[in-house]
Amino acid sequence: MPSPDTARAGRPLEVVPLGGLREFGMNMMAVSWGETTIVVDAGVLFPEPELPGVELIIPDLSYLRDQGRRVSALVLTHGHEDHVGAVPYVLPYVHGPVYGTPLTLALVEPKLEEHGLDATDRLVPVGPRDRVTVGDFTIEFLRVTHSMPDCVALAIHTPVGTIVHTGDFKVDQTPLDGEQFDFHRFAELGARGVLALFGDSTNIDRRGYSGSEVEVSDAFEEIFTSTTGKIVVALFSSSLYRMQILVNLAERFGRKVAFVGRGVVENSQIALRLGHLRLPPGLQIRDAEVRHQKAGNVLCLATGSQGEPQAALSRIAIDDHRHVQLNADDTVVFSARIIPGNEKAIGRVMNHVAHRGADIVFEGLKHVHVSGHGSAEELKLMLSLVRPKFFVPIHGEYRHLARHARVAEQVTGGATRVLVADNGDILRFDRESAEITGKAPSGRVLIDGTRTGEVADEVLRDRRHISADGLVVPVLAVNLQTGTLEGLPDVVTRGFVVDERTDAFLRDAAAVLTDIFEGASLEERTDIGLIKERIRVGLQRELRRRSGRRPLVLPVVMEI
Ligand SMILES: [Zn+2]
Ligand SMILES: [Zn+2]
Repeated sequence: MPSPDTARAGRPLEVVPLGGLREFGMNMMAVSWGETTIVVDAGVLFPEPELPGVELIIPDLSYLRDQGRRVSALVLTHGHEDHVGAVPYVLPYVHGPVYGTPLTLALVEPKLEEHGLDATDRLVPVGPRDRVTVGDFTIEFLRVTHSMPDCVALAIHTPVGTIVHTGDFKVDQTPLDGEQFDFHRFAELGARGVLALFGDSTNIDRRGYSGSEVEVSDAFEEIFTSTTGKIVVALFSSSLYRMQILVNLAERFGRKVAFVGRGVVENSQIALRLGHLRLPPGLQIRDAEVRHQKAGNVLCLATGSQGEPQAALSRIAIDDHRHVQLNADDTVVFSARIIPGNEKAIGRVMNHVAHRGADIVFEGLKHVHVSGHGSAEELKLMLSLVRPKFFVPIHGEYRHLARHARVAEQVTGGATRVLVADNGDILRFDRESAEITGKAPSGRVLIDGTRTGEVADEVLRDRRHISADGLVVPVLAVNLQTGTLEGLPDVVTRGFVVDERTDAFLRDAAAVLTDIFEGASLEERTDIGLIKERIRVGLQRELRRRSGRRPLVLPVVMEI
């Protein structure tokens, strides 16, 4: 008769990646043994412009729903949106605490508030080398370096062995905050034996090492030395190390710092509160004060590095920002990677900036951005340290996972077995073997921003608010050379309730649309991205004001 211990060890460990495999974004994974399931990360994916009206994409959560009360904890590796953006949607399926570092949790908190979720007492802060117990799991947190502070990898000790999840990482040997990558612990775990490693594959196709965050200092120093006007740097609002480097330079070069745009304002406040950003007193000014300063004394840190039409830089670029104007002596720096799909939008913003006469600097011209993900040599180092029995590449499209698999075979000489998995695959591990045994429900759920917290159905037309208030499609033909309307705008509706007020509105629709269009500047009228956004926001406002309804507005702008 087997002893209780061997009976326990005989039960397999089940790991189901629910997002982040064969795609970039919405990273999420469920780990189950016995009666306990834990969820690692709950990320979002940002939609490409082809999905109008959709603000976020999150993983299909049916698997977690099916696990019911077994889902006992959510464990977060770091505060990037592709790891925490879906926390408000995942939380209702989690019957227990949310573990994360203080910065990660501080970035999650406002999201929960926005969704009206009061879960503060469930947020449990953890630090490197801390251990927490959830059911039969002991979860250990390991410091890793990345493009933002306070990031961890996980060692999950289970009854069948230890699995290591790298989270996002690179090896930054000169971290700005002195928080060193915990090589020692990874090596110790490797020496004791690791059942499986789940490793970030984002930059597997880059040679060498990614480099330290501080490497951008030289390029920025040149820019600070040579610019006589304002310096405007567009960056991700989570790029807190980059912000610190820029704040330090601003202090040295006698410039005041203004945070411009909601994301950078909010995140800089959180970082200041937690000590991840240090600003000497008197250095910071509000964006409203920018115009009262000599241009040569100002540094603006702004949102909009991806050409998002609502972001600060897009407004500044078309001279439509309340407080910040661009002039010929100014320099605008795009200090971020171009997310594939955003090239055109970023290009359009650059054109507008060029029209203002300002100088433009981006990664291709100067080293103003460094990746937060380890390149091939760093990923090899992780494999050498951990020496897992099994390796599952994560965070990447299929080609990245496949390349990472090849690299793992080279590094370990075949001693490590590699499983290239897909979202929804059920990976079953025991102490000696691993296999993909089946498929759990997985996929994408689209979420629109018109009603906070509403999880819509997978198919756009089925979304609940469309059935309530319908769909309104304004159709405009625009000459993008001259910025003029060709003919009268039209409106197509589906499921839009016809009553006295909406009827009156529809009769006026062409005139309303013409007004909104003509209220835009020439630059907006000749930029298809900006004019669509203008029409969408303008028409939504008019609809609400005049009919009290909130249909989904999907503008179609035909280019003549
Ligand atoms: Zn990240
Ligand atoms: Zn990530």
